[in-house]
Amino acid sequence: MNLEKVNCNLCGSDREEIIFKGRESKIVRCIDCRLVYRNPRLCARMNLITTLIISIRIFSRLIRLRKFFFRKQLKFLAGKIDDEHSAPKLLDVGCSDGFFLPIGRGRWF
Ligand SMILES: [Zn+2]
Repeated sequence: MNLEKVNCNLCGSDREEIIFKGRESKIVRCIDCRLVYRNPRLCARMNLITTLIISIRIFSRLIRLRKFFFRKQLKFLAGKIDDEHSAPKLLDVGCSDGFFLPIGRGRWF
């Protein structure tokens, strides 16, 4: 793990007291301004990569949940519409990220 020692983000001081000591890092308090932070911490590049990986995982999970919800909505709508209309049209108003219509493709258009 790429850790880097940092000064206080608030005042720039390197004077700190340890509040909690973990295996690889510590939680410290700045002696000059009392800010509590992790030191050392992941280097900026590793922090960015970690944030991107977590964001991609969360976004992927969100997409799966939306598709599941949309399929349930389409199944409900199919039961209401197919009996009355031979060729119904599907309009998605405010389509957000656009997953709803592709899920309906093949069923109605
Ligand atoms: Zn400080």
